[in-house]
Amino acid sequence: MTTFQRPLPEARGLGMTSQRARDRLVERLAAKGIADRRVLDVLRQLPRHLFVDEALATRAYEDDALPIGQGQTISQPYIVARMTELVLEHGRPRRVLEVGTGSGYQCAVLASLVEQVCTVERIEELLRTARRRFRKLGLANIRSRHDDGRLGWPDQAPFDAIIVTAAGTDLEEALLTQLAPTGVLVAPVGPSGLQRLVRVRAGEDGWIREMIAEVSFVPLLGGVG
Ligand code: SAH
Repeated sequence: MTTFQRPLPEARGLGMTSQRARDRLVERLAAKGIADRRVLDVLRQLPRHLFVDEALATRAYEDDALPIGQGQTISQPYIVARMTELVLEHGRPRRVLEVGTGSGYQCAVLASLVEQVCTVERIEELLRTARRRFRKLGLANIRSRHDDGRLGWPDQAPFDAIIVTAAGTDLEEALLTQLAPTGVLVAPVGPSGLQRLVRVRAGEDGWIREMIAEVSFVPLLGGVG
């Protein structure tokens, strides 16, 4: 598993302001219960302000979801940290699938911790912007695809972990079939107002499903936008 060995090109020269803001955010996340040092270290270094519109950059280090256009949002840092922690807890995933690239922030966090991330987004415009950010940050271990992520990415399966960042009404069967035998899937499930973050692993007699927390995500939609 790798964390940043060198300062990211975009993290250099930003001055202390955004580093201090990130340090404060990380302190807040630790106080809220995020315990995995590897995750906290990545959030301390990754410039979240580059994943939102310039007009919102000053709010990038508050622990809030923010609009990214097309009616979508960049997830709250606490949720990004929690979901990442949940997939790292059981073994060390090497290859991870993310459904719902959005801004690319969750994907960039994962790419800083595992060997390879595959990410699928249904809105082409968001995917294009996210790809530019990955290039700018030198994140070379990300494969991305414009498609309906409910179908997963069969050619790239199996995955050691799958993170879904939009809420479906139930777990997607296609995604479960793309999980490695010891793999773990983390996804928000349920209708707006009643969503639960669940973690799923294969047990001896079927899937083990854990309820983690109440959450609020944008809906997982069908088709491509
Ligand atoms: N992980 C993102 C969160 C973005 S919000 C981030 O860190 O910014 C969820 C994203 O899921 C949106 O961009 C939305 O367009 C996308 N989405 C919704 N349904 C989808 C589907 N079926 N396939 C792929 N992406 C989907």
